[in-house]
Amino acid sequence: MIYQSTRNNDLKVSSAQAILDGMARDGGLYSPASLSDLEFDWQGLLPLSTQEMAVKILSALLPSFSEEEMAALVRQAYVGKFETDELTPTVSVGEDTVLELFRGPTSAFKDVALSMLPVLMTAARQKCGVTDEILILTATSGDTGKAAMAGFQDVPGTRIVVFYPYGGVSPVQQAQMVTQAGDNVCVSAVRGNFDDAQTGVKRIFAQVEKKGLLQGKGVRLSSANSINIGRLAPQVVYYFRAYANLVRGGRIAVGDPVDFVVPTGNFGDILAGYFAKMMGLPVGRLVCASNANNILTDFLHTGVYDRNRPFYKTTSPSMDILVSSNLERLLFLLSQDAKLVETLMDALSRTGVYRVPASLKAQLDKVFYAASCDDLGTKEAIGQVWRRYGYLMDTHTAVAYDVAQQYKAACPAHAPVVILSTASPYKFPAAVLEALGETADDDEFRAMERLEAVTGVPLPKNLRGLRDRPVRHRDVIGPEDMLTYILDKAGR
Ligand SMILES: *Cc1c(COP(=O)(O)O)cnc(C)c1O
Repeated sequence: MIYQSTRNNDLKVSSAQAILDGMARDGGLYSPASLSDLEFDWQGLLPLSTQEMAVKILSALLPSFSEEEMAALVRQAYVGKFETDELTPTVSVGEDTVLELFRGPTSAFKDVALSMLPVLMTAARQKCGVTDEILILTATSGDTGKAAMAGFQDVPGTRIVVFYPYGGVSPVQQAQMVTQAGDNVCVSAVRGNFDDAQTGVKRIFAQVEKKGLLQGKGVRLSSANSINIGRLAPQVVYYFRAYANLVRGGRIAVGDPVDFVVPTGNFGDILAGYFAKMMGLPVGRLVCASNANNILTDFLHTGVYDRNRPFYKTTSPSMDILVSSNLERLLFLLSQDAKLVETLMDALSRTGVYRVPASLKAQLDKVFYAASCDDLGTKEAIGQVWRRYGYLMDTHTAVAYDVAQQYKAACPAHAPVVILSTASPYKFPAAVLEALGETADDDEFRAMERLEAVTGVPLPKNLRGLRDRPVRHRDVIGPEDMLTYILDKAGR
């Protein structure tokens, strides 16, 4: 499979190069040129373990690596790192199935991909004969930063700098990041929201490329955000895991469709579901769940993407995003028209708005359903599910749960529904505690302890004692200083 820029048919690279570069030089994202001609024995995957599935799926999507090489990389990435060998277990909650993606080393679903990306990155560096150090730039809305730092901690030949919105992440997320150990990791707050941080990172890539700012320095940039295809590919695996579990449990027969409800921010997670569908998995509807920042809901309803709107800070901060980067890949894959994507993205950066052609809108309608859930709905969902089923959800999962119920009511002919659960409830303990009718004061760490006492749901090991770990990172900078900050780190 060959990769190309979503904005230019002539910019083509191998999968290893795409991982190494993070994003295309022209500002586009690397995407498979096409997914429709991929021949893949998806049924053969169903009896396999999750790690065996990962080997097959990843070597199909990233053919720079043989199946044998990939098997070694998968082992290196996952063995002993997750709470279960299954990596991403499923549980029944009422008539729905919840796919738990947060059983990894930092209790966020980002762990699934960010355990794999560092080994892919190191292997890609060798494949491409690159001796430069790789400097990973990452903007985070909260969870990516910690998972990326943990993944890259002390990985030879790499260094990582993470930017998060100042005051825009939860206290637990912030504590996880600023206490991260490792000689090659660094994190700074940026005054602004996530979009400011993400735009700043994209701008650094563009300026470094245009002005050759790192030439001869023995350093090159890459990204651990889901703009990197090496982040996206590992996420395809758990759609297969969930499907196989439903078959095993007798809930469906092989070939029956399953609908997936995905709490969505940057559109990476749900795009991985689209990849799974294109690889043959019988994915029925992909349901895009948003919080009050429901730009994707509006887009999927109208075909108009309009970021000229208020930005809300919600109780599901990892989805507080107005520019969903990975949507660009979907637009490219559906239209197969890099020129069109370039035009749309140009309109987005100039005016904040674009409208997709009617034919493209019709294609979206066939696969996607979209709805949103505000903070009040989130809170109600957490309380209701706990009282009814004794299952404790985090705020992001709750958004998806609420949207799943909306979807089922609106589309009675729906297939069995899998809800993707993207974080441990202990990452957002105050909001979860309040949803259970308890009062939480401002101290999120006390809320964590209290939540464990009230529910009896065990606190993940990695979050225990977080408050008492030493703070190692204290930088706060303005968006305009991000480039200088990076050049300074690169110079060391
Ligand atoms: C990142 C994240 C999301 C959104 O995933 P995208 O791939 O950006 O759409 C949802 N929930 C949580 C907890 C996250 O960390």
